[in-house]
Amino acid sequence: HNHIDHATPEKVEAAIAVGDTHAHLPDYQTLDAYRAEGGYARLAEIRDGGDFETIQQTLLDAGLRGLGGAGFPSGRKWGFVRAAQGPRYLAVNGDEGEPGTFKDRYYLERTPHLFLEGMLIAAWAVEAETCFIYMRDEYPAVLEILAREIAALEEAGLVAPGYIDLRRGAGAYICGEESAMIESIEGKRGLPRHRPPFVAQVGIFGRPTLVNNVETLLWVARVLREGPEILSGVEKNGRKGLRSFSVSGRVKNPGVHLLPAGSTMQDIIEACGGMLDGHSFKAYQPGGPSAGLLPASMSDIPMDFDVLQEHGTFIGSAAIVVLSDRDSARDAALNMLRFFEDESCGQCTPCRVGCEKAVKLMQADTWDQPLLEELCTAMADASICGLGQAAPNPIRLTMKHFPDEI
Ligand code: SF4
Repeated sequence: HNHIDHATPEKVEAAIAVGDTHAHLPDYQTLDAYRAEGGYARLAEIRDGGDFETIQQTLLDAGLRGLGGAGFPSGRKWGFVRAAQGPRYLAVNGDEGEPGTFKDRYYLERTPHLFLEGMLIAAWAVEAETCFIYMRDEYPAVLEILAREIAALEEAGLVAPGYIDLRRGAGAYICGEESAMIESIEGKRGLPRHRPPFVAQVGIFGRPTLVNNVETLLWVARVLREGPEILSGVEKNGRKGLRSFSVSGRVKNPGVHLLPAGSTMQDIIEACGGMLDGHSFKAYQPGGPSAGLLPASMSDIPMDFDVLQEHGTFIGSAAIVVLSDRDSARDAALNMLRFFEDESCGQCTPCRVGCEKAVKLMQADTWDQPLLEELCTAMADASICGLGQAAPNPIRLTMKHFPDEI
């Protein structure tokens, strides 16, 4: 608005013209282009007499796991929701608030219909009454693309008007936590719920709800069209499947890199064209700030769910941040805790007070390690949701792997 207020009449006109023609939209695949290459044919087949067990088995054969962070086998989750008493809902988690994660945006700005077809197949599988898409508001191009393409789907008669309900998030990190997202969809403040009951049983407005991540649904469409082997046929270091790594930091070519799930950090840095000139690899964040930092000496382990868990961390949504010798692991860990302090919903004491206390302790010249460890235990054991439970990870991993800095 400021821009227009202080601009000349010509500039105002130009700004309005740009707004009208949506010149900022990326060049994505439209409905016509997607259908021309066979898109929505599989959905039509499935709707026209598909067998749930067969489709579920295909996903299980592919080894498809939830790609929002938790990694739960998608076919099994569908089974739980379908088995619950209807009516049921589907909610797509497109909040993508984990710092360093941008894979969902990357795909939605290119192939939105691959995701939408996967979503409609999932909706068929659990006989969802409505599909809610909870989309990160900081992705204006994605919101516009989805609004347009959902309208195009309605126009083409592929979905009933209003069947897909596109919702905007409001910038709260915690609303990416599935139960907080559901509260937000219901119109309430985004506070995570206690579990059980799980959202598969008691979700939106108390109804069984399937919550899937954007990328997961994109793979549903691909697996069901191209066969489970597109994932299960890729093998590396004893792991199967592919993973979209969102890589940022001190590498030459940051961005989304689709690599085998068994890739190591060495492979990932290589795929990014190596480290920036003049930087040597020091540490990495394997899966968002909740995953903390690992040292460069651990760059030969497969970046998969189970392995990272053994090392007190996780792959999460595969948000990789690469740090070099010019970065401080201690400062990075402090930054992570400041983020959690800001984003804690404040509902439970171990997290609300714990994050604040941790930031204070981490600002000291020398960390009081026994006290920090005690605090970490209380937070991990007694917090309601993953934010407070995982916030100790950056603290513990920094104490373990970067003792010289603290
Ligand atoms: Fe809220 Fe933190 Fe408790 Fe989660 S752990 S419910 S974010 S206060």
